[in-house]
Amino acid sequence: MNIAVIGTGYVGLVSGVCYAELGNHVICVDKEKDKIRVLQEGGIPIYEPGLKQLADHNRELGRLQFTFDTLEAVRQSDVVIIAVGTPPGPRGEADLQYIEAAAREIGDAMNGYKVVVVKSTVPVGTNEKVQQIVRSRTDQVFDIASVPEFLREGSAVRDTLYPDRIVIGAESPQAVELLKQLHQSLTPEIIVTDIRSAEMIKYASNAFLATKISFINEIANICEKVGADVTEVATGMGLDHRIGPHFLQAGIGYGGSCFPKDTKALIQIAGNADYDFKLLKSVVEVNRQQRFGIIDKLIATIGPMQRMEGKKVGVWGLAFKPDTDDVREAPALDIVQTLIEHGAIPKVYDPVAMDNFRSVLDHPSIHWCRSALEAAEEAEAICLLTEWKEFKQTDFKAVEQVMLRPLLIDGRNIFGPQHFKDTQFLYYSVGRPAFG
Ligand code: NAD
Repeated sequence: MNIAVIGTGYVGLVSGVCYAELGNHVICVDKEKDKIRVLQEGGIPIYEPGLKQLADHNRELGRLQFTFDTLEAVRQSDVVIIAVGTPPGPRGEADLQYIEAAAREIGDAMNGYKVVVVKSTVPVGTNEKVQQIVRSRTDQVFDIASVPEFLREGSAVRDTLYPDRIVIGAESPQAVELLKQLHQSLTPEIIVTDIRSAEMIKYASNAFLATKISFINEIANICEKVGADVTEVATGMGLDHRIGPHFLQAGIGYGGSCFPKDTKALIQIAGNADYDFKLLKSVVEVNRQQRFGIIDKLIATIGPMQRMEGKKVGVWGLAFKPDTDDVREAPALDIVQTLIEHGAIPKVYDPVAMDNFRSVLDHPSIHWCRSALEAAEEAEAICLLTEWKEFKQTDFKAVEQVMLRPLLIDGRNIFGPQHFKDTQFLYYSVGRPAFG
């Protein structure tokens, strides 16, 4: 098939590369000329494991192209996939300006039958809006379909090539058939629904996962107060098949471009339909608070915040999760900001997200470090905010030597007591007893 992907961000680029890998001819389009230039020159503008090799392979086979010419890309395609951003508006609602612009451009480029697929996460009713916009600009016949995306940054290639399910929301049998063909080699779990249900499946899935995270984080907070260990609790819960073990890792809460935005958008969608989604509002509030637990533990160990003035605090990890350079809504943004407000000197290090973080939060107090060890030098404490693999392999005897005080506050619960035997470390985590 000939496919155009409009929007070459985390979703559009990974999807485009993977559709090419399936043997299709794919043209990825973006408005950001620098991004397209990097791609045309053989680079990859984001960090995503396995993506470069797959992109190189398909570029060499001539199945993958990049352009900022939407008109030409759409004209050459049978399937046009919209994967532009849907960032939060001022009240948390999804901002649809990029979707609407893409729909206008597609409408203007139509030169024959095509299936227009909305892959971006959009409120119920948006596909109909896209249909109206395209229809208002062309007499050509086309169909519309909602195929929401469930990939996770950091494992996006694997998630796209081996998805749990593909959801196709479409009314037209021709569109359903074409999209089934496109996805059939990926998974037998293809479900076909009406368009509105497909749009809702995406929000409901993310809201449910966010709920699991906030739930276990509240259990963790209670565990700390009553002397239980949330890791044991989660293991015991997760063995129940009705619950399952996933998304029960306590920590400083979720971030990223999806859960924060999609939970708020669903609260708005419900509100617009006169429904007060109380449970999800609490999920969002719990998540917002959870990251500040790190600060509370710093206060409990180092002393009140006024005593943080001039003190160095190592910050390990800035990305919202490991294996990505994405810092959108990362807990690290609030934590580093709070440290700065209290006069501390954050010594930050992340294996890949330093530049992205600096573009969002740059401050003269921040020390930008080249290694985890450098971030620990002369620090009163280390706050671990992202569970990067390299942190798991830390030699704490070496780290202890360079710190002013061997204190680790682990926001992701990645260590057990054995990591610190033979050291003087005092170790705090989330929902588990401190030791050291
Ligand atoms: P992104 O911000 O990384 O990329 C969006 C891209 O679209 C940008 O490069 C932007 O320049 C481009 N764009 C905007 N308008 C355009 C236009 N008219 N023509 C061409 N390009 C245009 O966003 P993302 O993270 O890839 O997310 C895209 C959508 O997918 C969102 O709705 C998001 O909620 C959803 N989603 C994201 C993820 C994720 O993990 N990032 C997972 C599932 C779903």
